[in-house]
This record gives sequence, structure tokens and C-alpha cells, in this order.
Amino acid sequence: MSTRREPHVDARREYCTACGDHTPHEVTIEQANRHTDATSEENRKYAKVPRRRSECKRCGTVDEETLV
Ligand SMILES: [Zn+2]
Repeated sequence: MSTRREPHVDARREYCTACGDHTPHEVTIEQANRHTDATSEENRKYAKVPRRRSECKRCGTVDEETLV
């Protein structure tokens, strides 16, 4: 039986410009809760935009996109 799953849940193949090939990437999405109606200045100070970070597992190049 060889149907067990590898624990690489966030590894996906994407195109890496440095490698010039589709390589396994570790993709992380940082999601921020943006409450536009928040009146607290503290919330504004810590307001973040969602970012998608993908790291090439072959060469280590990191790409960051802002998802706005
Ligand atoms: Zn690469």
C-alpha cells in the first residue's frame, strides 16, 4: 500500500524566473483582517494587507505579491 499522503500541503509547482522552470514552491498567504470601519487607531497601526509569499524550494527565491 503506497497511498499515504506526504505532508507537503503547501508545496505547489509554480514558475520560477530564476530557475526558468516550474519548480516546487512553498506558498504562504498572510491574511489580514481589515476592518475598514474600525475606529481604533491601534487597529490602523497594525493594519496589514494580504500578501502571498512563494518561495522556490529549488533555489530559494522568494516572490511576494500584494493581494489588494
Ligand atoms: Zn527557483
